[in-house]
Amino acid sequence: MPRSNRPRSRRTPDRAPASDDALDLDRLRSGLKRTEVKRAGAFSVQSVSAAAAVKVYSCPGCRAEVPIGQAHVVAWRADGPMSDDAELAARRHWHSYCWRMEP
Ligand SMILES: [Zn+2]
Repeated sequence: MPRSNRPRSRRTPDRAPASDDALDLDRLRSGLKRTEVKRAGAFSVQSVSAAAAVKVYSCPGCRAEVPIGQAHVVAWRADGPMSDDAELAARRHWHSYCWRMEP
């Protein structure tokens, strides 16, 4: 009986106030990122696995949807005018192909 005897912790309520977006941000801050330079400037880029693609995003490259379950990349300015957190909050999800094609 693996589950029944585990006491429920009061410190982790079922409805946590932190949104999954916050968890997302944590993952991005601590995750493995690389820096790529595009015409618009330097970007921090992180791959999103198919399993982690749980939301639909609008790709800035082609304006089409990045569907749930499709591996793609998330990119944000590494040298932008805003604070790191603000740039991270303004991150965009791209089709891997569109990001590669971005000059
Ligand atoms: Zn695209």
